[in-house]
Amino acid sequence: MKFILCMLIGFWGLTSFARGEESTPVLNKLTPDEERVIIKKGTEHPFTGKFVNHKETGTYTCRQCNAPLYKSDDKFDSHCGWPSFDDEITGAVKRVPDADGARVEIVCAKCGGHLGHVFSGEGLTPKNTRHCVNSISMSFQPSSKTERAYFAGGCFWGVEYYFRETKGVISTAVGYMGGTKENPTYKEVCSGSTGHLEVTEVEFDPGRVTFEELARLFFEIHDPTQADGQGPDIGEQYLSVVFYVDDSQKTVAEKLIGILKEKGFNVVTKSLPAPKFWKGEDYHQDYYDKKKGSPYCHRRVKRF
Ligand SMILES: [Zn+2]
Repeated sequence: MKFILCMLIGFWGLTSFARGEESTPVLNKLTPDEERVIIKKGTEHPFTGKFVNHKETGTYTCRQCNAPLYKSDDKFDSHCGWPSFDDEITGAVKRVPDADGARVEIVCAKCGGHLGHVFSGEGLTPKNTRHCVNSISMSFQPSSKTERAYFAGGCFWGVEYYFRETKGVISTAVGYMGGTKENPTYKEVCSGSTGHLEVTEVEFDPGRVTFEELARLFFEIHDPTQADGQGPDIGEQYLSVVFYVDDSQKTVAEKLIGILKEKGFNVVTKSLPAPKFWKGEDYHQDYYDKKKGSPYCHRRVKRF
C-alpha cells in the first residue's frame, strides 16, 4: 500500500516536504598530501597510512566532508598495506569505472572524494569484497563518543529521512523492534503477526546533538496523537514509540510527552525500554535517498 502511495506521489511531483537542511556538503580544507589523493585520485604508499593497523571501534568518515563511510566491524586485515573493509555503510560509497579501464574506483557518495578501489572474488572474507581505501581519505570517530536512540513513528523510510539529515547524527538504520520473532523480515512484520514496529536507529554524537533535540524532532515529524498507525499506514507496526536505552532517555521522553499533553495534544506515544534492534533489509535503508524522493506521510510540524 505504501509503495503504491509513494509511487503516486512521486508521479504527481509533490515534493513540498523538502528536506530543510540539505545543501552542498561543507568541505574540510585539505593539505596538499590529502588533495593529491582525494582530489587528484593519487594513492598513498602501502603500509604508511595511519589506519592500516588501526583497531579501535567506531566509524571511519570522509576526510573531506565528514560523511560516515565504514564501520570498524567491517574492517579486516588483508595484508595489502591499506585499510580494508568488506562492507560499506549503506549508500555511503559510490563505485565508478576507473580511468585505467580495469579496476572499480570508489568515491565518497556525498562529496565525490577519491577513496580507493573495490575488489571482489578474492575470497578473503565471507562477503568476498575488499574496499581498499587510502587512510588519508578518512577520519575516524570512536564509538565511545556516540550514543544510540530508537524511534518508531510510522513508515521507517520517512522517519529515517529526517534523522539522517540532522546535525550530529553519525548514522541511521531502519529495522524492527518489539516483536516476538528473531530477525523478522519486512513481509512478516507487515503481516502483523510478529508484533514488531518499524523503527529507526539513530547513532549520534552527544557532543553535537542531544537526545532531547532528537526526541523533539521525532515528535514534530510524525503525528504523536494518531492511535492506529501513521498517516495512511494503519497497523500495529506503525505505532508511535520511543524505545529508550537508559533512564535518562526515559526521563526526557516522558518529559516531552508531558509538555505536549499540557499543550493540549492527546499524545498516544509510548515510552518503552529498548529490546533488540533487528536491522531491516538493505533496500529499506536510506530509502528516499536511493529513490530521490521525499516522505509521503512525514513532514515537520512545530509542536514545542
Ligand atoms: Zn565525502
